[in-house]
Amino acid sequence: MIKEIRAKKILSNLKNPDPWFGIKYNMNLYRGCEHGCIYCDSRSQCYQIDNFDIIHVKINALELLKKELSSKREKGTVGTGSMSDPYIPIEKELRLTREALKVIASYYFPVHVITKSDLVVRDKDILQDINRIYGAVSFTITTCDDDLAKKIEPRAPSPSSRYRAMEILAEAGIYTGLTMMPILPFIEDDEENIRCIVEKAAAHGAKYIIPSFGMTLRDKQRAYYYKQLDRLFPELRRKYEVKYGNQYICSVNNAHKLIGKFKELCNRYNIKIVMDKYHGDNSEQLSLF
Ligand code: SF4
Repeated sequence: MIKEIRAKKILSNLKNPDPWFGIKYNMNLYRGCEHGCIYCDSRSQCYQIDNFDIIHVKINALELLKKELSSKREKGTVGTGSMSDPYIPIEKELRLTREALKVIASYYFPVHVITKSDLVVRDKDILQDINRIYGAVSFTITTCDDDLAKKIEPRAPSPSSRYRAMEILAEAGIYTGLTMMPILPFIEDDEENIRCIVEKAAAHGAKYIIPSFGMTLRDKQRAYYYKQLDRLFPELRRKYEVKYGNQYICSVNNAHKLIGKFKELCNRYNIKIVMDKYHGDNSEQLSLF
């Protein structure tokens, strides 16, 4: 279900740029997400989204964005994709993300996009324009098994199509890589999965992979996840309850071993495990390519 809302603000300011992506201003054009990932943290109580499967479209987002960007004294990376994927299926028709990227390009702000969708390729032209300052696109991939992804991220495009999209952006000179997070305990925490993700990333132009060897679980997010485990992997809920109880950070059992393997593979394929971030108006970003 889609609903229209008017937002009061479209950019939330981070006091300090976040350590992973260097984001200074966070932007969510939609509230809720169509992709339906069973592990989604945005279902947590603290975000106060009653029904995450109803998509709220912020219809005044573009006018707010123009107003807010024009009054920013400090240039910093605008990040999108942390609470809702900017390339959910409805975006194909609404083109809200595309228009927002055009606005950002016109104000010469750097951008970082996180997505699970190949629809981002549609906006390659604007991302190239933004890339004169700094433009990065991170694809979230936690398994390269399309069938498993269909279970855990039921309405998102397959990992195979994300890899293809990444290759197209990489060939267009856009800084791109993976967020390999979360790695779900007892489901995705095997060496073969990590090897497959890294090798495919290398073959499709990834410059970096940012990993997390585990997941977070809390309140409503945990309740939803366990309900989906009961349906999809009935034997696993008990294992989670025994191992993690009410823990928020749930690391995989063999994290140490997997991290070692991951680093070895990234080293072999010359993939960084941290991103190069935007560092001010005189950024040397272009030299990265
Ligand atoms: S794509 Fe991201 S925001 Fe959307 S459901 Fe999946 S994890 Fe949540």
